[in-house]
Amino acid sequence: MKIQNYINGNFENPIENNWLDNYNPSNGEVYGLIPNSSKEDVEKAYESAKSAFLEWSKTTLEERSRILIKISELLEDNLQSFAEAESKDNGKPVSLAKTVDIPRAASNFRFFGNAITQFASESHESVGQNAINYTLRQPIGVVGCISPWNLPLYLFTWKIAPALAAGNCVVAKPSEITPMTAYLLSEICNKAALPKGVLNIVHGLGKSTGQAIVEHPEIKAISFTGGTATGAHIAKVAAPMFKKLSLELGGKNPNIIFADCGYDEMLHTTVRSSFANQGQICLCGSRIFVEASMYEKFKKDFVQKVQALKVGHPSDENTNIGALVSKSHLEKVMDYIEIGKNEGGKILCGGNKVTVKGFENGYYLEPTVMEIRSDECRVNQEEIFGPVVTIMPFNSEDEALQMANKVKYGLSATLWTNDLKRTMRMSNQLQAGIVWVNTWMMRDLRTPFGGVKASGVGREGGFEALRFFTEAKNVCIKY
Ligand code: NDP
Repeated sequence: MKIQNYINGNFENPIENNWLDNYNPSNGEVYGLIPNSSKEDVEKAYESAKSAFLEWSKTTLEERSRILIKISELLEDNLQSFAEAESKDNGKPVSLAKTVDIPRAASNFRFFGNAITQFASESHESVGQNAINYTLRQPIGVVGCISPWNLPLYLFTWKIAPALAAGNCVVAKPSEITPMTAYLLSEICNKAALPKGVLNIVHGLGKSTGQAIVEHPEIKAISFTGGTATGAHIAKVAAPMFKKLSLELGGKNPNIIFADCGYDEMLHTTVRSSFANQGQICLCGSRIFVEASMYEKFKKDFVQKVQALKVGHPSDENTNIGALVSKSHLEKVMDYIEIGKNEGGKILCGGNKVTVKGFENGYYLEPTVMEIRSDECRVNQEEIFGPVVTIMPFNSEDEALQMANKVKYGLSATLWTNDLKRTMRMSNQLQAGIVWVNTWMMRDLRTPFGGVKASGVGREGGFEALRFFTEAKNVCIKY
């Protein structure tokens, strides 16, 4: 199947007619072609967005809201086919795409379609000065949205929906590894009568297509989700043009378990927070720290549950762990397992590739639990982004806190305890953009989302996203 760029409401081949192979990770086979778009394709997408901007920025909020909600409904109507397409592109179980990725993409459009109608601006009466100030929240113009491969449509729409709701026109690039659902989304946008040129999707490589979006002098804001090194590079390229940037980057999140927690729920959720989506979620709790008094019991029970997870073909409904996204990513994760072993880590379970009958060339790996001796080892410090977690005991709250914070990342942290005072102490001091207590990845789209330290700059979610995608202009009137 040949994917095309979506420019000005039309489906187009890349100008230079260059194409990339699209792999199915579940069997390692090429199943389609993707445009390898050039700077000229990005320019064309920009021109189309620019032409659409004047009109789109003046549509009423009700009209924008209506179109976004229509897109949401059409996604829901096509849940099964989108879930299958996402799974084929990414390797994740169809069941996961059907219950998480696609419903969440639909929610993104519904949520921001509603949120824009509630997005109020401020006014201040300057008492004693006979003046009134009010703040306009104006769309920026043409904005760029660049997203990764792990939650393809979920994160793509997390950017596009607020950008469009706020009245911007968009040039977007999904990951070249997982472009399929973004392509299918463009068909839905046409069906929902999104005006031509309001959303433009160019497919291609990060270092060329993505870079051309970031380098474009008239694309005034970039919302990027991806790796920390790429985020740092984008920040450098964008800085001389004073672009507005939102960077949602890598994570190496602690999962801190105290002996006074609700054990069964903790155990169940910890399996999920470690291995959901093959461990390829920026929010996964990949560093597990357990209070020493309960460590041996947890270790035994956790390993038993992890060993019961079924690695298999993504379309098999009994599969818990599908394929990793690509051959090179599988190799990277395997390399980390070797690094961990060489650092003295002990594999408690997993660590090997899995051959799934009939799909021998797929990129499957056992969920892996590694007991480590020091929290400073590389496998505990660097983002692996696969089905590999480290575990280690701690003796005191202070020690747990120190180990939790002793990484360059600061995206999320999970805490398991029933002690309210400890909850307050720890959540105040954990260096993370999001702290979950006695749960994981429970999301309310009104809340701010983003990381500290090397996990990013800025917040998206709720009105934070609408603030990012608008410029605040204060008007002061003396009367
Ligand atoms: P990358 O940083 O490699 O890529 C992310 C996106 O940026 C892709 O579309 C990529 O294109 C593009 N890109 C790459 N280089 C450039 C460039 N020079 N200019 C512009 N765009 C570029 O990340 P991955 O796709 O590998 O995703 C995994 C990473 O994303 C992990 O580190 C993970 O933690 C992070 N992530 C963070 C989240 C958060 O909310 N904080 C959520 C999900 C993931 P291409 O794919 O074609 O190279």
